[in-house]
Amino acid sequence: MEYDVIVIGGGPGGYVAAIKASQLGLKTACIEFDEDDQGKQKLGGTCLNVGCIPSKSLLDSSYKYHQISESFDEHGIKVSKPNYDLARMMERKNEIVKKLTGGVSHLFSHNKVEAIHGKGKLLNQNEVEVTDLKGKKKKYKGKNIVLATGSRPINIPSVPWNGTTVVGSAGALEFTETPKKLGIIGAGVIGLELGSVWSRLGSEVSIYEAEKDLLPMLDSDMTRTIEREFKKQNLNIHLGCFVKGSKKYRKGINLEVEIDGKIEKKYFDKVIVAVGRRPFTDNLLDEGCGLTLDEKGFIPVDGYCQTDLNNVYAVGDLVRGPMLAHKAMEEGVMVAERIAGKKMEVNYDLVPSVIYTHPEIAWVGKTEKQLKDEGIDFKKGNFPFAASGRALAAGDAVGSVKVLADKETDQVLGVQIFGNSASEILQQGLIGMEFSASSEDFGLTMFSHPTVSEALHEAALAVNKQAIHIGN
Ligand code: FAD
Ligand code: NAD
Repeated sequence: MEYDVIVIGGGPGGYVAAIKASQLGLKTACIEFDEDDQGKQKLGGTCLNVGCIPSKSLLDSSYKYHQISESFDEHGIKVSKPNYDLARMMERKNEIVKKLTGGVSHLFSHNKVEAIHGKGKLLNQNEVEVTDLKGKKKKYKGKNIVLATGSRPINIPSVPWNGTTVVGSAGALEFTETPKKLGIIGAGVIGLELGSVWSRLGSEVSIYEAEKDLLPMLDSDMTRTIEREFKKQNLNIHLGCFVKGSKKYRKGINLEVEIDGKIEKKYFDKVIVAVGRRPFTDNLLDEGCGLTLDEKGFIPVDGYCQTDLNNVYAVGDLVRGPMLAHKAMEEGVMVAERIAGKKMEVNYDLVPSVIYTHPEIAWVGKTEKQLKDEGIDFKKGNFPFAASGRALAAGDAVGSVKVLADKETDQVLGVQIFGNSASEILQQGLIGMEFSASSEDFGLTMFSHPTVSEALHEAALAVNKQAIHIGN
């Protein structure tokens, strides 16, 4: 069987590449080996099955519970002591995952993408071997091949996963009981999001982070407020410390943690290891297929996701850049369009990032530190949500919006937000930045009142000392 495009991997990078290629008139197949309990193929990859979607489902459920427990009283709403049903919360999450993964299968049928169930291996620049779940092998020819096999969590030797007391992020989305004491290794995106979920549901959470600074990709004025707020939320974050070892007991686990040069022993019911992810290439490349991995295990590609082999592309977590679903999807679209002879590019300077804690943390473009390192003169504007009418009305006025703009041209170069709906506000900044908007352009744009987005408007006005609702 010969295809115009064969995609290996049915996550956001792969399934989007396959749908787009087919929409552009290319005969396309997508190979995916993941399956459910009944042996039925599951599309959607990490994002839909064990990543973005299930984590956001639990973040939203736990946040609703937290609001009823902690903040309804302030609004004058009386609720007798609320409780939660963890099994139902998990069931709801699984229903959403099923709906969305089923949706991808439906999109494949609708767009005439052939889904092949099995494990794909690149034999050469035009050939893929698929091993089905019974071990039977079959070869497929493709004029173009897109590798999109994603990533897996990194394991650390001092605290190996055991699937019960020590788990990765996927295990932490499946706890059947709320751990009384929860240890998390790594205060990155997963540590903070899943730490928030379980802390809201009642776990005593301790997070151990090797770096001395929390979220070093943000400016320190932002992280100072973030750290203060998380402390209030009982996320006990310990920075600059190393987990040296662990000892498993029947019901829990002891971590040996080096804090300020001293080893401390800490007991936990569960530990989540969240120290980053690595590209997943197990059995993907046949020896002699013509591709090799770089020193970190990624597939080397150029700015258009083209590998060293003609007509073989790689996208998503498998290649350089942030491991984010939207970056994978954009790369999938770019590759499909380029295969079809179009000229699409991804703007890697404007990849947005969001951490879905409450308040959310969102940023895009350059930070003050990056601008200083690059010798770019800049000006900045800040607006605190404490001065936003809408944020105050909602009882949700923590954090601020920060806008950085080129000193001479006034072009907006970076936006950082810690606050209610930061993810949605950021997107407005990002659209402007895609069109090279100046802070004056944002200032001249009318924002609906009252909205939390007005904080972006005011922060942009503050860049040129023209804010109305704070002192300049
Ligand atoms: P994947 O989604 O990993 O998909 C790869 C697919 O390839 C998998 O289905 C795998 O089974 C399949 N595969 C692998 N090898 C083979 C083979 N040889 N043959 C056939 N199939 C194969 N990103 C965000 O942008 N926003 C978020 O909110 C967010 N939340 C996250 C929360 C968690 C807990 C985690 C773990 C990740 C989160 N991410 C989030 C990251 C996001 O999930 C990934 O960046 C994204 O899924 C990468 O897409 P991908 O297509 O490159 O790889
Ligand atoms: P991460 O890179 O965000 O954070 C890992 C953290 O662990 C870092 O702060 C790192 O310094 C720390 N660390 C590393 N080794 C350590 C050690 N031995 N002891 C203590 N700390 C250690 O990685 P993650 O949180 O595992 O997430 C993995 C990927 O998934 C990320 O690339 C992220 O982009 C993606 N993701 C995205 C979202 C989102 O977009 N909202 C949510 C979850 C995951």
